[in-house]
Formats: sequence, structure tokens, C-alpha cells
Amino acid sequence: MKVLVLGAGVIGATTAYHLAEAGHQVVVLDRQSGAGLETSFANGGQISPCHAEPWANPGVLPKVLKWMGREDAPLLFRWNRFDPALWVWGLRFVSNCTTPRTVRNTERTLRIALYSRDCLRDLRQRLALDYDQRTQGILHVYRSAREFDRGCRAALLMNRFGLDRQIQDRDQCVAVEPALAAVRHELAGGILTPGDESGDAHKFTRAMANHAARLGAEFRFDTNVTHLLRDGDRVLGAATDQGQQIMADAVVLALGSWSPLLSRPAGIPLPIVPAKGYSITLTADGPAAPTVSVTDDEHKMVYSRLGDRLRAAGTAEMAGHDPSLNEKRWRLIVEHARALFPGAGDFNHVEPWAGLRPVTPDSVPLIGKTRLRGLWLNTGHGTLGWTMACGSARLLAALLAEKSPDIDPGGLGIERFSGLL
Ligand SMILES: Cc1cc2nc3c(=O)[nH]c(=O)nc-3n(C[C@H](O)[C@H](O)[C@H](O)COP(=O)(O)OP(=O)(O)OC[C@H]3O[C@@H](n4cnc5c(N)ncnc54)[C@H](O)[C@@H]3O)c2cc1C
Repeated sequence: MKVLVLGAGVIGATTAYHLAEAGHQVVVLDRQSGAGLETSFANGGQISPCHAEPWANPGVLPKVLKWMGREDAPLLFRWNRFDPALWVWGLRFVSNCTTPRTVRNTERTLRIALYSRDCLRDLRQRLALDYDQRTQGILHVYRSAREFDRGCRAALLMNRFGLDRQIQDRDQCVAVEPALAAVRHELAGGILTPGDESGDAHKFTRAMANHAARLGAEFRFDTNVTHLLRDGDRVLGAATDQGQQIMADAVVLALGSWSPLLSRPAGIPLPIVPAKGYSITLTADGPAAPTVSVTDDEHKMVYSRLGDRLRAAGTAEMAGHDPSLNEKRWRLIVEHARALFPGAGDFNHVEPWAGLRPVTPDSVPLIGKTRLRGLWLNTGHGTLGWTMACGSARLLAALLAEKSPDIDPGGLGIERFSGLL
């Protein structure tokens, strides 16, 4: 079968690999000059099923209201009053804030995230991948006793769904990551997820694109896809800004935050909005720099050691498809990083970056077929695209080949949004 993959981020590149491995003729289109140069470029680096708690949960609405209009808010809505798609997304987000839906969405996220972690390990071994990976687990730390308590309840739920999470007191936190010694007295406690990992998503994406190309996948970069080609309820291929029409038996939409821009004119309105986040990268300096990946839950910040670099990432801003760097927002990341790991490096010399997470209202990705024959989705991975990439790609490849998948795909497809809420 000839399969056209739109997008060469971590999702598209990994999908291309699995499709090529399954023997399909694969063509990948991306507007950038190489793989993984947009949202998959400088993310937080965590392989983190431990982050399976969805954004929409019973505790989030009071927080969002409290943070409204504050430039230093971890989650900031700059609401466009005239965008109906955003309002529908917002309604669906609110409807997912109930306890039963939070439990359901946590299970769905963990199902794909845990599968994906296993798939990543399998690929790492088979392909001898090197992407500055670390396999020492992820440690969540809390300063407020109330938030720690809330975190422990979420951890117990995840234990129930098969993720090993271990509650730690402040001394155990420092034993796991000695670079936290400077803030030991501020900590209420922590939660260690020993099986979680970290690594450089961009290096991984490039490696997967190279392996896909080795298996025969053709990557066409610097190619902007303008629209999908249709005949009635069948998608036939895609058109590019270079005047080409590329026909295929199947088209996989893996355009991250830009997926709805192509799907909507074809009659498939995807519930995905971009949530801008920032990262900084600096040279890590000696024992004061962490080696274990850490999440600071209250500030919604993550830290990953990537070789001799330290990456700190966080914050979310719903402000449309604007990838520009807001200095106030990225300097906030610098201040949080300096406060947690003083002496980890030279915080006056950092590389700031911003990316647009493709977020669905329930934080669960969209994987599988659509009502248009030949159009497949592998998109909407939000805050966990790197975590879920390998499993999503393998699942999509199995579904497309009409093979029985390793995990139940129920609740991961677009059909769950057939009603308004
Ligand atoms: C600050 C931050 C921190 C994060 N930290 C983590 C983390 O620690 N762990 C984790 O799992 N996830 C994390 N994420 C989320 C993760 O990075 C994303 O979910 C993931 O990168 C999405 O991958 P993607 O392939 O779907 O999208 P992208 O990487 O954005 O790929 C989409 C591709 O489509 C191309 N494209 C778009 N439109 C067109 C068009 N019209 N024509 C041609 N090409 C087009 C783009 O060039 C791009 O290459 C983080 C995100 C951010 C912003």
C-alpha cells in the first residue's frame, strides 16, 4: 500500500518507520528542512506515563480562574472570543473535569503511554538508538502539603492502572536526586516513578527518520501541504505549495497542532488547540546539576539531563498558532530552574525555545481512522507526544494494516467526539 504521512515530527517520523517496516511504500511530507524541527525539537525530554493525569480534572477550574490574566501563570488562556472552534473545545474541556471522566481519561492515557514506553525500549534495543537517554525514573517534587496529598491520590489511581509510583519523604527525594539538597527544607515530599525515562526527542526523531529512510521511506522536506485531495468521502492524497498532487492509498495526518487546519476544510473538525510552552537549555555544571529527571508539580515544570546539557520546560499558553518567544514567559522558566537547582549551570546563558503542544479537551490523542475513507489520524498528543510516540505509531500501523493491535484502541479515536460534549 502507498501511504502518505503528513508531518515529520516525533509522531510522523516514528509512524513512517513502523509503516515502512510493515512493507508499505511510504512518503513523508514536511515544511521544515529536516525531521523534528517544530514541537518535537526542544521539549521537556520526559518519557512520562507518570504525567497521565489529564489537564481537565476536578481541581483545575479554580486554578485556571485564579491564574486568569496573570503573566506568570503556569496555564494561561488568551481566549479569542471570535473563534467558535475554541469555544467548543473549551466546553468539551469543562465537561471532562468530572471525577469519572478524569479516571476514564487517565486510564486511556496510561494504556497508550505504558505501551509506548515498552515499544521505545524495544526500538532502543533493536536499533541501538542513542539520544542522550536516561533510565533512572522521574521524581515529582512538591512544596505544598496540600498539593503533595493531591499528587499522592493521583499516584494511587495510576498504581491501579499498572504504573509503579512510589511515595517519598523529603530525605528520600534528596537520596534519589542529590542536586535537590539545596531545597531539601522546602520539600513536602515527592513521588518516584522508577520505570519512567528521559532523552532528547529531537535526536530520537532524527534517528527514527533515518531508520525509516533506510527501510525505503521517502522524506520530502521544505514541502508545505496546502490541502487534502478528495473524491466524495474518500481522501486520495495531498497537494503541496509546489504544485504537486501526491496520490496515495492512505494518508496519515501527523501535523501536531496544525492538523485541524488541513482536516477542517475536508469536513473533519479536529478538537485540537495549540498550547504554547517554553524550554531553556543550558550547559550542566558538575554535581549541582540533576541527573534524574524531575517534575516540579506546582510550577508545572520538568527538568531533564541530556548529556552535558540541562533542559527545563514548562508553562502553557492558549494563544493560537503563534510560536514567537515571549521573553517574560521564558524568563519565568529560568527563575524556576535557578530556584530549584541553584548552581546547576550558568543561567545567564540559556537557549530559549517555544513549541505548540497539540492538546485535545480530554488529553487523550486521536489515533485511528476517520469517516473519510483513506484518512487516518495520529495526532493530538498534547503534553505527552514524545512519551506516546512509539506506541501510537505501532498502534496506527496495526490498525491501518487491519491487524489485531497489541492494545485495545477503544476510546483513542475521533469517534469519541461525535457528540458536542
Ligand atoms: C515546552 C514543551 C515541553 C514538552 N515536554 C514534553 C515531555 O517532556 N514529554 C513528552 O512526552 N512530550 C512533551 N511535550 C509535547 C511533545 O513535544 C509534543 O506532543 C510532540 O512534539 C508532538 O509531536 P507531533 O509530531 O505531533 O508534532 P510536531 O513535532 O509539531 O510535528 C508536526 C510536523 O508537521 C509539520 N507541518 C505542520 N503543518 C504543515 C504543513 N501544512 N505542511 C507540511 N508540514 C507541516 C511541522 O513542520 C512539524 O514538523 C512538550 C511540549 C512542549 C511545547
